[in-house]
Amino acid sequence: MICTICKDPILLSQPGKPATVEDLPLTKDLVDTLQAHQDSCVGMAANMIGVPKCIIAFYHGDHIVVMLNPRIAEKSGMYLAQESCLSLSGVREAKRWKTIQVVYENEKLEPCQETFSGWPAQIIQHEVDHCNGILI
Ligand SMILES: [Zn+2]
Repeated sequence: MICTICKDPILLSQPGKPATVEDLPLTKDLVDTLQAHQDSCVGMAANMIGVPKCIIAFYHGDHIVVMLNPRIAEKSGMYLAQESCLSLSGVREAKRWKTIQVVYENEKLEPCQETFSGWPAQIIQHEVDHCNGILI
């Protein structure tokens, strides 16, 4: 289901709750909504569709990766990025890390650990911030 994008800064500032097996149907809504906005959006967090749970979905190349309860365990190489967000207007500056190690659960709720660099790493950091109620 394609959902309405939440633009309420108060709702978006609330940290998400841990995602559980009951939240798995939500991952499809998140993917459907991301696909519907793929011309202007490369990643999405569940609170952007009004559900305060720690789930993100993002484009990695041309396929979509879903992560539950993502957490950045290690980071290196700070830089300043210019970012925009479907839930916010304008372009804003954000502190990002070039390489990150992400700990998360996949759609089968299996624990995963993966290292990302560059553009996908930047997208993940933006979406993990959403999970923590942080806006750029
Ligand atoms: Zn955003």
